[in-house]
Amino acid sequence: MLRYALLILTLCISSCSNRNPDAPTSSSIDPSDTLAHDRMIGGLLVKGKVIDNQTRCSHYHTELDIIAIKFKCCDTYYPCYSCHAESTDHKPLTWDSVEWNKKAILCGACGLELSVQEYMDSNNTCTRCQSSFNPNCKKHYDLYFTMTE
Ligand SMILES: [Zn+2]
Ligand SMILES: [Zn+2]
Ligand SMILES: [Zn+2]
Repeated sequence: MLRYALLILTLCISSCSNRNPDAPTSSSIDPSDTLAHDRMIGGLLVKGKVIDNQTRCSHYHTELDIIAIKFKCCDTYYPCYSCHAESTDHKPLTWDSVEWNKKAILCGACGLELSVQEYMDSNNTCTRCQSSFNPNCKKHYDLYFTMTE
């Protein structure tokens, strides 16, 4: 009986000590977590500092940051260029417009892969699940795609 009581007590202590009172209850996102966390999202490996199951990373983690981009140089999905830079030791290559028919954008909400062209034409909305993508990614297109104009 005493041993049983001790077991309960031990369980209680370990579960209580794991609880962080400052953590938001609705989400498990911790932007201060800068460790590399490769994850399988939509059946695909997303590398970098991924912090949730919708491709948010330690750099970009707003409500709308739910896409990963496949980098041409290493044929690997990363949530953002910073994740790529911090996880590799090579310069990123961008997708030329003749390659924009290739699937290189992953919707973290539903796991759909879009081609670069489909993504460009999507008006920042997933063509399958209608989730909104961050329109500010447009500012960084030249980091991922070869922009001619
Ligand atoms: Zn690369
Ligand atoms: Zn990142
Ligand atoms: Zn989607």
